[in-house]
Amino acid sequence: MRKRSRKNELMMRRFAIIFGIVAILSVLAAGTAFVGIYVFKILPIGSAGSMSPPNLSGVVSQSSGTANGTYSGKAEKNRQEIYQGNLILVNNETEYQLDSETHLGSVFDLRSQSYKSQDKNVRLDKNVIQNLNQMMDAFAQNTGKTDVMIASGYRDRELQTKLYREDLESRQTSTSLFVTKPGFSEHHTGLSFDLGLWPTNGFHREYTGSGEYQWIAKNCYRYGFVVRYKSDKVNVTKIGNEPWHIRYVGVPHAYIMEKENLCLEEYIQYLKNFPYEGNHLMVTDDQNHRYEIYYKAAPAGQETVSVPVPENEDYDISGNNIDGFIVTITLS
Ligand SMILES: [Zn+2]
Repeated sequence: MRKRSRKNELMMRRFAIIFGIVAILSVLAAGTAFVGIYVFKILPIGSAGSMSPPNLSGVVSQSSGTANGTYSGKAEKNRQEIYQGNLILVNNETEYQLDSETHLGSVFDLRSQSYKSQDKNVRLDKNVIQNLNQMMDAFAQNTGKTDVMIASGYRDRELQTKLYREDLESRQTSTSLFVTKPGFSEHHTGLSFDLGLWPTNGFHREYTGSGEYQWIAKNCYRYGFVVRYKSDKVNVTKIGNEPWHIRYVGVPHAYIMEKENLCLEEYIQYLKNFPYEGNHLMVTDDQNHRYEIYYKAAPAGQETVSVPVPENEDYDISGNNIDGFIVTITLS
């Protein structure tokens, strides 16, 4: 009896140990899977401006060495360059500063066969058109639809002035929630466009992003795009819900903004929590691509800014159109 019960006891213990190990392994596996999807967990964020400091435990991972301000490369930037790049913030308070049109290309000429251009005059940043081609090819493959059209792309100040006046007149108001005043429209950047649907039987059709077109809003981050003016961000963007207005910010920024539901105003503010001198934002997206992101301030009155960059990794530098640069490193 005694022997047997001792045997039983041993067996029970073994079971308990095995069970414990299995349980721990399960938790670890689940945790790893979770980390794979949400590489970092973002801080609770209220409205822009009332942002909490980053909770560094679990929010970002730091890799020793590279993520603590030890890059030996230097990119010498003119301070004026804070006004250009994929991450520039242009809104009712932040004016677009550039005048050049050399980066633009014709959507009609450069597009793939998976979508349309309203006419031959629609222009966008050439790099944006390339990414748009990839996105719309994937959309067409998934849905069989090729009737999405680019209804509006780049606008110069003159065209924006005309649209703004027309909108005020038609609404009989003094300010517009949908057409931004000239100089302050994202359409000046060449990084933004409005989607429409190709008319059927001559009838105008509006793009609302519903039905099969939901694919675009759900997947555009994979191609570096975001739906810029969402209904739950009207208090931050000061622009009404516009499911048709898409903005290019680049991968991985679109991924972070999408997964953490940040509009560009919030995201640009958020990135300031990761200065070059401090902790950098380390991200692995859902394709397992790894990125490192940091902010480098460009103090007013300073003519040039020396931006630290790695010597052996691909990186991109964008201004934020306000006060500094954002470095995005694609880690190998
Ligand atoms: Zn628009």
